[in-house]
Amino acid sequence: MSVYTNRESLLAALTPRRKSKKIGFVPTMGALHQGHLTLVNKALEENDCVVISIFVNPTQFNNTEDLEKYPRDLETDVALLKSLGKNIIIYAPEASDLYGDSITATDYNFQGLEHEMEGKHREGHFNGVGTILNIFFRIIEPDNAYFGEKDFQQLQIVKKLVEIENLPLNIVGVPIVREKSGLALSSRNKRLTETYKKEAVLISKMLKEVKERFASHSISELNRFVKETFDKNDQLALEYFEIANEKTLKTAIKKSKNEKYRAFIAVFAGEIRLIDNMALN
Ligand code: AMP
Repeated sequence: MSVYTNRESLLAALTPRRKSKKIGFVPTMGALHQGHLTLVNKALEENDCVVISIFVNPTQFNNTEDLEKYPRDLETDVALLKSLGKNIIIYAPEASDLYGDSITATDYNFQGLEHEMEGKHREGHFNGVGTILNIFFRIIEPDNAYFGEKDFQQLQIVKKLVEIENLPLNIVGVPIVREKSGLALSSRNKRLTETYKKEAVLISKMLKEVKERFASHSISELNRFVKETFDKNDQLALEYFEIANEKTLKTAIKKSKNEKYRAFIAVFAGEIRLIDNMALN
């Protein structure tokens, strides 16, 4: 297993493998947990070698404090990845290796996907995500790239990015990995106090409740139920809860037959912002 911090040395290692080997790619911001490792294991099953990037991308943060306090622990990340086998290449560059002198985001039109949910609450976020992934895809040229459904809106946007940029790679979605309690694994969980962590279980609990009630309740009843439950909790602040069409990500007001729906939620536990989602039908 090797760790590269600049694109020249990464490419020197990758290029000879390219001809005969399938290359998988797992982009991450580090502070790795079992969710990330599940993506890496799936990529190892389906490719001959897997590049994992570890890079906290500044252009996708709309909040300086969130960027500064984002957990970083390269040494532990490398040790964790080492345990997964030898067909792993880690790319952990500085911003200048990816962006050159200008750390700016491209303005993308993701055909409306970028204006829903996270797009409304994190201005410019998906331009930052699209920009960095386009850079990574063009350097690494993977056959397959792996993304978690934990960031379901991001997954849909990455599929759109690949279409817009006409890139020859396959995007693979991976189901959400949760703690026993139901809490979706996230690097940001490392910043939660024990109390907030216990309280945060309510997020996935509500998604499960909504799923159970989906067939028998209207969408407005479900929205009210979630809002009222969070109103009663003084530790967690609901930023948004939405039931949306899984394909278009547009807010659903009424259920239509033959459409797939998903519930999406963002909650503040103190200053830590947590997101989750669940398929409803
Ligand atoms: P991040 O490091 O948070 O940017 O995440 C890197 C990748 O891991 C993204 O594709 C995420 O969707 C995915 N991921 C993060 N947490 C989970 C999880 N709990 N289950 C599945 N995938 C995840």
